[in-house]
Amino acid sequence: TSDPRVEHAASLIRNVPDFPKPGIQFKDITPLLGDSGAFEGVIDVLAESAPAGIDAVCGVESRGFLFGAPLALRLGVGFVPIRKPGKLPGTVVEEHFDLEYGSSVLAMHIDGIQAGQRVLLVDDLLATGGTLCASGKLIHRLGAEVAQVQVVIELADLGGRANLATCGLNEVLALL
Ligand code: AMP
Repeated sequence: TSDPRVEHAASLIRNVPDFPKPGIQFKDITPLLGDSGAFEGVIDVLAESAPAGIDAVCGVESRGFLFGAPLALRLGVGFVPIRKPGKLPGTVVEEHFDLEYGSSVLAMHIDGIQAGQRVLLVDDLLATGGTLCASGKLIHRLGAEVAQVQVVIELADLGGRANLATCGLNEVLALL
């Protein structure tokens, strides 16, 4: 892409080899978050790219919160957290999903979104897509629609987009 805001953001993402374990190339977004102009530029580009008629932004714990919450404010809609189990005090729906090693669970309040709403689903990074697939299932189970998935970074080699399509998540925007 040639958007200078995206180029600036890309220059502030640090590749950390073998973190948190050998063989993983970790994308460290903290330099981007620490630069207010770059951070705001990312939020602006995401907001400009969002489809019309969004009713809520769902962000995935924990780095999805960092982009999802300011994006919700920018779009003038509420923010709904998708969290690890045991964190949300109200009645939740839960989805179990497989990770490369082991499995995990995500949860969302059942009154966080309403049936028929158009939701923007946000995380920092798309790898295999397991996290966002499970998140999409939570939204679908509440009768709402995922109008678009937005991530800052896509690790395209891992086939995440194809995996998202199998979960009914066909609209995917990645900045990098
Ligand atoms: P996945 O479910 O495989 O698509 O993994 C996506 C989730 O894991 C996101 O919430 C990311 O924050 C995190 N993640 C996976 N791989 C990386 C990576 N190489 N660098 C930073 N975060 C990652």
